[in-house]
Amino acid sequence: MQGEIQEIEAEIARFCAKREWDQFHSNKDLAAAIAIEVAELQEAFLWDRVATIEKIKEELADVFIYAFRMAERNGLDVMKIVREKLAVNAAKYPVEKCRGSASKYTNLNEGVYDGR
Ligand SMILES: [Mg+2]
Repeated sequence: MQGEIQEIEAEIARFCAKREWDQFHSNKDLAAAIAIEVAELQEAFLWDRVATIEKIKEELADVFIYAFRMAERNGLDVMKIVREKLAVNAAKYPVEKCRGSASKYTNLNEGVYDGR
C-alpha cells in the first residue's frame, strides 16, 4: 500500500510537471482545490439528488489527487499521518463512550446535550 501511494504521488507529480503546474500548487491553493472538489462531491447529493457512482468516483478521485499532491509537496507520508490521526481519534472517541453516537468528542460525557 505504501509503495502504491508513493507510485500514485509520483504519477501525479509527473502529470503536473509536464504541464508546468508546480508553480500553482502552493499549500493555500491545494487546500482550496481540495475544498472545491469536496464541494463538487457534495453538489452531487444536493437537494436530495441521487448521485451516480460515476460522479462519486470522479469527484472523490479529484479530492484524492489534490490530497496526495499536497502530501507529496510537503514531504508527508500518507500512511503515517493517517495512522497517527486515527490514533488521536481513537483517544478522542473511546469505543465505550461513542459506540452508536454521532456526538462530537467534546459532548461524549453522559448527560451533555449536543443539540441532536
Ligand atoms: Mg471535480
